Amino acid sequence: MSLEEVKEKLIKEKEELELILSEIDKELNKVKESDEFEASDMAEKFEEKQDFYSKKEVILKRLDDIQRALKRIDEGTYGICIKCNNKIEEVRLKIDPTTDLCRRCVS
Ligand SMILES: [Zn+2]
Repeated sequence: MSLEEVKEKLIKEKEELELILSEIDKELNKVKESDEFEASDMAEKFEEKQDFYSKKEVILKRLDDIQRALKRIDEGTYGICIKCNNKIEEVRLKIDPTTDLCRRCVS
């Protein structure tokens, strides 16, 4: 895959994640609003909220990874291990294009 293709793929994923994120925020707002009215199912609401927050956390982390990968593409350091400066294995980049460590440094 060329760098341009990687970049396109990452931007597409970023846009999708941002869309999901705004949906989660909408749902979270709904849960928040209903809190005041229904104290009876607090536990359930709490769980629901926790669920949204953990989903949000995963997405935010992924967005951060994507952001950093895009930055590395622009800086011309994409595909180079941030720890040892060696080339990252093609197969690792194929599995996760945001990876910034080579096989040796990740373990
Ligand atoms: Zn390395």
